[in-house]
Amino acid sequence: MYDIIIVGAGPAGLTSALYALRANKKVLVLEAKSYGGQILNAHKVENYPAIDSITGFDFATNLYNQVKKLGLEIKYETVLHVETDKTVTTNKGEYHAKAVIIATGAQNRKLNIPEEQEFLGKGVSYCAACDGNFYKNKVVAVNGGGNTALEDALYLSNIASKVYLIHRREEFRGEEVYTKELRQKENVEMILNSNIVALKGKDQLESITVENQNQERQEIKVDGLFIAIGQDPKNTIFANVVDINEKGYIESPDGVHTKVDGIYVAGDTRVKELRQLTTAVSDGSIAATMAIKEMKNEA
Ligand code: NAP
Repeated sequence: MYDIIIVGAGPAGLTSALYALRANKKVLVLEAKSYGGQILNAHKVENYPAIDSITGFDFATNLYNQVKKLGLEIKYETVLHVETDKTVTTNKGEYHAKAVIIATGAQNRKLNIPEEQEFLGKGVSYCAACDGNFYKNKVVAVNGGGNTALEDALYLSNIASKVYLIHRREEFRGEEVYTKELRQKENVEMILNSNIVALKGKDQLESITVENQNQERQEIKVDGLFIAIGQDPKNTIFANVVDINEKGYIESPDGVHTKVDGIYVAGDTRVKELRQLTTAVSDGSIAATMAIKEMKNEA
């Protein structure tokens, strides 16, 4: 029997674990892939208070090591089901706790064009920090208009010979500090009001077809395509214990509680205004603190 089971080992989940372990609680973290979550893909984090600049990988590893020192128990298993009595079923077993914190983040959104899967790892990537180095002096495209796409385009402009930044609207969703810098880059070309509609190649991606708002198409030769069009949460497995909005995010009246006592939510997977590292760790600390406090009240 655990005090708290935390589902997800991204910044929100690991911060929950940090707070719970420091309160001497028996904690289990369940993670389907690897610790760190999406921040692992960030080349640089420069908006976390008191840290000038750090790679996403270092941030995640520092946090993981910090929690590990406190005796973190982490199992790499896929959660399949959570019951109102806080029984958590995974692909490998069943665990019981007094409280559960759901901190599952969100997954990369797909373009949903037929060839996307075919060229995955053969030119198509969702992570410039991981795969960017394969494109030294090559031609790449980045798709998206948020901070991730803008950061990816900047990062790749220092590696690739040419970067096409393709976005479906005229205005970018990401911060101006990035767009300003991108506009000064000679090897970055922005293609706006346009969507990618097809990918072509033999064994490897060779070109993308881009369609503008007048349905005019152009084929662009590229070696790589980095898709950075946001994330989608995967919360349907929790539908019996939480309310989920039309976009798949978990509803919470105050940002941490769900409709079931003792089941909490933290981080990107919940409905919120701002999905950032700062807000993820904030959620994680509040969710763990509430879980501990309400556990005490029950006793
Ligand atoms: P995002 O902010 O949700 O942006 C997604 C972008 O992709 C939007 O420009 C969107 O277009 C576009 N898009 C969505 N679906 C599309 C589709 N099917 N086809 C083509 N384009 C599509 O996602 P994100 O950039 O990954 O960022 C996620 C969160 O992390 C944000 O809050 C962001 O600020 C934060 N973040 C912060 C940093 C940092 O501060 N250093 C770095 C990375 C990410 P529309 O604009 O037309 O909707």
